[in-house]
Amino acid sequence: MKTILEIKNLTKDYSGLKAVDNVSFKIEKGHVYGILGPNGSGKSTTLGMVLNVVNPTQGSYEWFEGTTTNHDALKRIGAIIERPNFYPSMSAIQNLKLVCKIKNISQDKIEEKLAVVDLLSRKHSPFNTFSLGMKQRLAIASALLNDPEILILDEPTNGLDPQGIRKIRDIIQHIAKSGTTILLASHLLDEVEKVCSHVIVLRKGKTLYCGPVDEMNNNYGVVHLDAADRDSLFEFLKGQPYAISVKEENEGFKVVLNQSIDLSKINADAFKNNIVLHKLFLKKQSLEDQFIKLTNHI
Ligand code: ADP
Ligand code: MG
Repeated sequence: MKTILEIKNLTKDYSGLKAVDNVSFKIEKGHVYGILGPNGSGKSTTLGMVLNVVNPTQGSYEWFEGTTTNHDALKRIGAIIERPNFYPSMSAIQNLKLVCKIKNISQDKIEEKLAVVDLLSRKHSPFNTFSLGMKQRLAIASALLNDPEILILDEPTNGLDPQGIRKIRDIIQHIAKSGTTILLASHLLDEVEKVCSHVIVLRKGKTLYCGPVDEMNNNYGVVHLDAADRDSLFEFLKGQPYAISVKEENEGFKVVLNQSIDLSKINADAFKNNIVLHKLFLKKQSLEDQFIKLTNHI
């Protein structure tokens, strides 16, 4: 697998305050990474360092497996780390033409990228007539003009209304499906859960978790079940090797699992023991539960 970015022990010290504290992670091609953490946890500082706008106090990073200088690497990256800023009275297309001139890249892709962010029909509208969501989408189109290998976004949905948020998330997912690697910073758990395949959880500059989003949620979950004959069901559940604990509540039993288990097997086994289940479902701990557990533990 191709490594797009490797960060090794990056640290940023602002006169005694460790904004980023010994952070290491790798970004592999084709995935969507989230840096997740509350405000002030060091997300923007981390992005600033790898984009060469903040000097690291310690540590290093390497773009594209060291095949290019950090300066040249920037030409292969699309990044939006500030609020979108374009010329207010110029149209979307005029603004993008200007970006192409400044970056010395071809204008051929302008319409294609406006289509990606669903702004093609508004290409001649002046920037100052755009909603915040549309401005953000134009910024994404602008960052895509050079067909970057990775798109970096800092809090891409901040300040947007629910429809604007939805639209940006759909666009991010669409861009990811087309093969572009994405790194986004967000303080929103559900954003990371919905959009990202991998997550780096930061708190006060330190990494609390780094890995696939679904492995952060690597508990086996709790099976909820019930039957008319609760005594038999309790006897049955107590004897099962996958049950760490069996708890009876008003609405039935909750069984904490120590392994993954096929629910249809539980159903069939219960039936063999003359127990007819009228409730059977698996509930996993949400990323939010895991996140709160992680952030409380330091
Ligand atoms: P996040 O993006 O996760 O909200 P930041 O990376 O912006 O966090 O900030 C991390 C910490 O570093 C915060 O405590 C912030 O106040 C501090 N910080 C950020 N930039 C500077 C700066 N230029 N000078 C001093 N402190 C800073
Ligand atoms: Mg920030």
